[in-house]
Parts: sequence; structure tokens; C-alpha cells
Amino acid sequence: MYCSACGKTITEDGRFCSYCGNVVGIPPTPKKLMRSRADRKIVGVCAGLAQYFDLDVSLVRILCFFLTLASGVCPGVVTYLLAWIIIPSEPELKPVVAVQQAVTS
Ligand SMILES: [Zn+2]
Repeated sequence: MYCSACGKTITEDGRFCSYCGNVVGIPPTPKKLMRSRADRKIVGVCAGLAQYFDLDVSLVRILCFFLTLASGVCPGVVTYLLAWIIIPSEPELKPVVAVQQAVTS
């Protein structure tokens, strides 16, 4: 494989050119915000946020609870309901191989 920026030969599995630092090959898929299936208490909004931001689920739930109280309950509840509608639910658990095939094909 060759670097598209400097033309030097790089390893097949390399993601960056070691000569100029250019990104080569397929870029990693960006993280998607999804409602968690495994960790849900209500509909998985907090667990999904925790997964996305790499935080502890309990911490996110406590934050949501206090933000809801601080906002006078109603805005927090409406935000949660909107998040429920907007954020897609995690797909059913599938074997990792099947998911990778679906992504690459
Ligand atoms: Zn290069």
C-alpha cells in the first residue's frame, strides 16, 4: 500500500503513514449515540450517554436526576422523552462477525 500524500510504501494494515502522518486506508467508524439495551433502567438513554462519553452509568443517572430536579422536573422529563424518540435503540445482540460483515458490505 502507498501513502496518497508522499507516495512512500507503508504496511498493509497501517492506518497512518509513518513518514508524513497522513491517514490512509479506511478511517475508523465514528461512535454512534444509541440507547443501550443491556444496561437500561427505563429506555436506556442514560446508559447510552454513558457509553458514548465513556462515563460510569450510575454517574450519568445521578447527573440526569439532579439536572431534572434543578430544571424544575418538566424540562428534564421532556428532554428525556425527546432523547427516547431521537436516539435510536441499540440493535439486537448479534454475533460480532455478522455485525462486521454488515458494516463492510
Ligand atoms: Zn506519507
